[in-house]
Amino acid sequence: MKKILVVGGGAGGLELVTKLGHKLGKSQQAEITLIDRSHTHIWKPLLHEVATGSLDINNDGLNYRAHAAKHYYHFQLGTMVAMDAEQKTITLAALQDEEGTEVLPQRTLSYDTLVLAIGSISNDFGTEGVAEHCYFLDSHQQAERFQQALLNQFLKRQQADDDSTLDVAIVGGGATGVELSAELYHVADLLKVYGMSGMSAKRLKVELIEAGPRILPALPDRIALSARKELQHLGVSVLESTRIVRAEKEGFVTADDALIKADLMIWAAGVKAADFVAELGCEVNRNNQILVRPTLQTKAFDNVYAIGDCCACLQEDGRFVPPRAQSAHQMASLVFKNIQATFRGEKLQQFHYKDHGSLVNLSRYSTVGSLMGNLTGGSMFIEGRLARLVYISLYRLHMIAIHGWSKAILLMIVRRIGKVLKPKMKLH
Ligand SMILES: Cc1cc2nc3c(=O)[nH]c(=O)nc-3n(C[C@H](O)[C@H](O)[C@H](O)COP(=O)(O)OP(=O)(O)OC[C@H]3O[C@@H](n4cnc5c(N)ncnc54)[C@H](O)[C@@H]3O)c2cc1C
Repeated sequence: MKKILVVGGGAGGLELVTKLGHKLGKSQQAEITLIDRSHTHIWKPLLHEVATGSLDINNDGLNYRAHAAKHYYHFQLGTMVAMDAEQKTITLAALQDEEGTEVLPQRTLSYDTLVLAIGSISNDFGTEGVAEHCYFLDSHQQAERFQQALLNQFLKRQQADDDSTLDVAIVGGGATGVELSAELYHVADLLKVYGMSGMSAKRLKVELIEAGPRILPALPDRIALSARKELQHLGVSVLESTRIVRAEKEGFVTADDALIKADLMIWAAGVKAADFVAELGCEVNRNNQILVRPTLQTKAFDNVYAIGDCCACLQEDGRFVPPRAQSAHQMASLVFKNIQATFRGEKLQQFHYKDHGSLVNLSRYSTVGSLMGNLTGGSMFIEGRLARLVYISLYRLHMIAIHGWSKAILLMIVRRIGKVLKPKMKLH
C-alpha cells in the first residue's frame, strides 16, 4: 500500500489528511499518516485569543489522535528535522518529556508521497535581543506562555497600591499585532467581572510598532485606516514608520535610539519557514519558504509537495501567494486532487489562488475588512456585524472541513453553551 505522509496538522495539513483519510485511507488505497510536534490542533488565526485567555485550548483544541481514529488516518507525535529525498524518508527528532527525559528515540519514517505543511515562524530578522526578551505567537505553547505572563502582570497591578500601568509593546502591525492589541483591551476590561477591580483597561498601555508607513501593509488603505482609528479609540498608541533595532530587558530600542519601555514584549513582525527547511534539499526563497511549481510539487522532487505558509508559490502577477489560512485551505484542496490524479496516472492540476478578501477582528469592538469576488464585483469594504459574521464563518468552514457538517454544528452549539456556563476568559 502507498504511504502518504503529511507533516504539520495546521490550517492546511489537517484539512488535507481528513480528506485523504476518507478518500484513500478508508478504502485502504493508501496509508495516510499525519505528523505534528504537538498533541493538539488549534486554528492558528485564533492564537491571539489563546494568548489573552479569551480562548482555552483545553476546551477548544482538537486532539490529533482522537481525530485520526475517526477519519481513517494515523497520527505520529514528533518534530520533523530532516528529509532524505533519495531514500524517501524523513527523520523525527527524539521525543523528550518536560524534564528532558527521552520518551522516544530519533525515528525515520518512509513515504511514497510527502506533503510539507509545517507553517511558519516569526521572523526577527536577526534583531539583537529579540529571541531573549520577546514572546512570539507561533504555536499554542508560546501563546499559553504569554497568557501566564499576562495573568501574572494583571495580578501584580491588582495588588500594587499605586496607579502604575501595564505596558505592553507589540512589534508588527500586521493582522496578528492589530488583533492582539484589541484583544488585550477586551480581557483587561473583563477582569472586574472576576473581582480584579484594581486592574482595568484604563491601566493598560499598548504600543503597536510598525516599521512601514502604516499598519496592515498587506491590506487596502481603507481597512488600515479604519483599524487604526478603532485601536486609537481603545487607547493603543500606534507607532508607524518606527524601526526597532534592539530588544532589551526594559523594552524596545528604536532606530532613533529611543527606548519604548514595556513590561511585556511581543514580536509579531513577518514570517519565515523554520531554519531546518533550508537544509532539506528543496529550493527555498530568502525566508526559507520552499519554492513550488504551479502543481504545488516542490521544484526539486515530484513526490514532495509543500503547502501553506512554508511554501513560496508564485502567482501569474509575479507575487507570492500570501501566508494566510485561506491560502493553506485552497492549497490543501488542490494537493488532495493532485495526489489522487497521480494514483490514477492523470495530469496534475495547477494552483490558482482566489483571494476572497481579508478581515481583521478587533475583538468585540469591531471587525473590518474587504470581500472579493464575482458577487461584489471586485473588492467591497465591510465592517461591523456583517464583517464579524464573515470572520466567524471562516473558522466555521475550517471546522466543517475537519469534522463534517453534523459534528461541526454540534461543536458550535456546545461552545455556545460553554460560553454561558464557563468564565469568559481563562483565569489560571
Ligand atoms: C494571531 C494570528 C492571526 C491570524 N489571523 C489570520 C486571519 O484572520 N486570516 C488568515 O487567513 N490568516 C490568519 N493568520 C495566518 C494563518 O494562521 C496562517 O497563514 C495559516 O495557519 C497557515 O496554515 P499552515 O497549514 O501553513 O500552517 P499552520 O496552521 O501554522 O500549521 C502548521 C502545523 O505544523 C506543525 N509543525 C511545525 N513544524 C513542525 C515540525 N518540524 N514537525 C512537525 N510538525 C510541525 C505545527 O505544530 C502546526 O500544527 C493568522 C496568524 C496568526 C499567528
